[in-house]
Amino acid sequence: MKQLVHKLYARGELSKVELVDLLEHMDVETRKELFRLARLRREQAYGNKVYLRGLIEFSSYCRRNCLYCGLRAGNREAERYRLSPEEILECCREGYELGFRTFVLQSGEDPWYTADLLASLIRDIKGGFPDAAITLSIGEREAGTYRLLYEAGADRFLMRHETASRRLYQELHPLMSFDHRRQCLETLQSIGYQVGAGFMVGLPGQTAEDLAEDLIYLRTLNPDMIGIGPFIPHDKTPLAQAKAGSLEDTLVMVALARLFLPEALIPATTALGTLHPQGRELALKAGANVVMPNLSPVAVRKKYALYNNKICTGDESAQCRHCLELRIEAAGFSVDMGRGDSLKALASRHHA
Ligand code: SAM
Ligand code: SF4
Repeated sequence: MKQLVHKLYARGELSKVELVDLLEHMDVETRKELFRLARLRREQAYGNKVYLRGLIEFSSYCRRNCLYCGLRAGNREAERYRLSPEEILECCREGYELGFRTFVLQSGEDPWYTADLLASLIRDIKGGFPDAAITLSIGEREAGTYRLLYEAGADRFLMRHETASRRLYQELHPLMSFDHRRQCLETLQSIGYQVGAGFMVGLPGQTAEDLAEDLIYLRTLNPDMIGIGPFIPHDKTPLAQAKAGSLEDTLVMVALARLFLPEALIPATTALGTLHPQGRELALKAGANVVMPNLSPVAVRKKYALYNNKICTGDESAQCRHCLELRIEAAGFSVDMGRGDSLKALASRHHA
């Protein structure tokens, strides 16, 4: 199996058959070699820097019903909150003082925040902190809204494709469209956003073939960012009894994503940190290069409960920032507080 890893390192891709073979026969030695080469690729592209993003979870209301997510509309026991534009700006102010130059605004799909309200919020954030990048992660909206928000100053957009398997997507997302989600990602790219896609590992019913398809899809889409995390069940969802994705399988997918898309920004996700105390550090060692500390007010953090036992819900933003910096440095990396644009975005700016 090691030969397949070397072939991937040399060529930057494998066929679907080869990928499935690799995933189904991954042994300890092959995994070690995969992580070593993924880390090497990341060093060639980005050195040993880890970019920090300040995450602001601004609304726990959601009109969707994704089967896996604790924020799904059908979860009547979820505690809901919305941060006002002033409160969001306050989080940015605190984050800016702590050194953050990227703010990630994330929420359920919450139409309470109209296109105009979001555009005006983005203009205010850009007005106050012109050297900071704004990343949105607010789900599916109309192309016109995406355009308005880009014109208002939003730089990036994260929207995981969740799974590249049409069958699995349809099982997990009632009343949502597999094709529409993909169209949204293409629309966002064509508008000019730096785009992040990504998927969960260990979803109930997910096969090695499905995971191979995720990588092949990513290679075609060529996003700037790739979010990969384990599925973790939430008590009050239809998948409460399902098994969580494993640490090893998720790390393998992070490493493969790095080798398929060497220039992508890949976060070591909070879900990995929830699964294992060293989950995020291990992801950095397997090719990830971004960490997203939480800047949401402590009073609301527990309410943004996507899955059981989410970590970092009790600490103040400054504590999160410093704790993660210490962890990243202890793992042998150095923190970069700059905007941290993707290499792809920097190259296209250079050519423009
Ligand atoms: N609502 C927006 C969307 O879905 O694109 C953004 C917020 S949503 C909570 C962010 C991500 O959380 C989703 O893309 C999904 O991959 C992840 N997520 C939701 N429930 C999860 C779970 N039970 N385990 C792991 N990740 C989960
Ligand atoms: Fe809503 Fe996003 Fe959760 Fe789906 S994953 S229920 S869209 S918050």
